[in-house]
Amino acid sequence: MKKVIETDIAIVGSGTAGATLAKELSKKGRKVVLLEKGKRETRLGGMDDALRFYENHGFRKSREGIPLYGTSMVGGTSVVASGNAVRCLQKEFLDLGIDLENQFIEAEKELNARPLPDRCISPGAKKILEAAQALGLEPKRIPKFIDPEKCVACGNCVLGCKYGAKWSAVDYVDEAVKNGALLLTQAKAIRVLVSNRKTRGIEAIGPEGLMEIISDIVIIAAGGIQAPIILQKSGISNAGKKMFCDSFMTTYGVTKNINQTKGVNAPGYILRPDKFITFPFVDPPVQFLLYNSWEALFGGLPRERTLGMMTKIADESIGQVDIDGKITKTISPKDKEKLNEGIALVKEIFIKAGAEPKSIFTIKQIRGPHPGGTAAVGEVVNNNLETEIKNLFVCDNSVLPKAPGLPPILTIIALSKWLAKKIIN
Ligand SMILES: Cc1cc2nc3c(=O)[nH]c(=O)nc-3n(C[C@H](O)[C@H](O)[C@H](O)COP(=O)(O)OP(=O)(O)OC[C@H]3O[C@@H](n4cnc5c(N)ncnc54)[C@H](O)[C@@H]3O)c2cc1C
Repeated sequence: MKKVIETDIAIVGSGTAGATLAKELSKKGRKVVLLEKGKRETRLGGMDDALRFYENHGFRKSREGIPLYGTSMVGGTSVVASGNAVRCLQKEFLDLGIDLENQFIEAEKELNARPLPDRCISPGAKKILEAAQALGLEPKRIPKFIDPEKCVACGNCVLGCKYGAKWSAVDYVDEAVKNGALLLTQAKAIRVLVSNRKTRGIEAIGPEGLMEIISDIVIIAAGGIQAPIILQKSGISNAGKKMFCDSFMTTYGVTKNINQTKGVNAPGYILRPDKFITFPFVDPPVQFLLYNSWEALFGGLPRERTLGMMTKIADESIGQVDIDGKITKTISPKDKEKLNEGIALVKEIFIKAGAEPKSIFTIKQIRGPHPGGTAAVGEVVNNNLETEIKNLFVCDNSVLPKAPGLPPILTIIALSKWLAKKIIN
């Protein structure tokens, strides 16, 4: 027999958006069920751990071979974030009638977002930022949601923080549960139950089989790839027709003795609006080996004295997520041009920082860390974040109107707070 649970609000996904919504709505006394297809992971910080909870073990790819990152776990992709807390798309949302100013202020306070002290920054990253300064590029420090008192500068933020130094949405999930929300883990939403173009709840599958969560309101917060699949299965056929991913490439250069592995990733950045952002970044060991292939495998590239930078762009929304989960993602010539412009600047910085010019190279693999825009506001949802089905809302990376080209967590938290307030009122 199907298990049936009744609630006021069903939320799908316990990542950045879902956790924020669950916290805010439960705080105001709403009965919330939070469905999460992944587990609550307690072991973090190692490559074996990351391979367990990254979607497809880190190998979720488009047909064209672009890896599209995200995790399946309580807290979602926030758990593997680098801790960057910056505002993005505020004006774009305002133009759509969504004023996030107050919610940004609240989120920044809750996450205690601020730049980190020098002791959390590796000698390599410092050298890069100094070189950029000397070249007149005006690098800035990035506000982080990392507690410097607990940070040991291990450099493994993207594998999950085992020292509890970094905020993640798990903190919000815990608050929601304390407020009375019911968290169901390993519970995968399949489709929205609809009658007369109105939401009736969610059909999901859990460890004990099929279940129905009966609720007046459903919020899909399953992330940029999963959300459009659920929406299509629920009859919203225009979901998943566009997709961005904030494409990035990494560039490396070998030095005599400068180590960049022991410190947080991206402590500072150089931004060229509408073009690219670039910042110090070294891939975690296995990816470093994987993407640097022959040179790294045979010891040609010493990770401990190699400088690394990531160049990231706001790519065009040329991509698609099909109902069966197949993904198409291409990079336009304009996108490639922007990446190349950033990479050319990185080369100058590396040479100034002391890297051997001949050693500098860029990994050919283009990767996508922020897949989204698959249920964009103004296209798939209206400016209440509601779909054509009454009381079916979407709130996560998928509703972003365009690629941010910047870390989106703070914006997603602000947007989720905004929606929670709307629903409560
Ligand atoms: C390595 C890495 C580093 C990053 N660093 C930063 C950073 O420093 N700062 C920043 O701002 N951004 C960063 N990002 C991006 C950021 O983490 C994501 O954009 C953001 O967390 C997305 O939030 P979301 O709510 O849309 O989805 P997610 O946080 O991915 O949450 C979606 C959740 O839904 C669950 N789910 C999916 N389908 C179902 C289903 N059918 N049923 C039930 N549950 C389901 C998933 O398991 C997941 O838990 C980083 C991303 C990566 C990959």
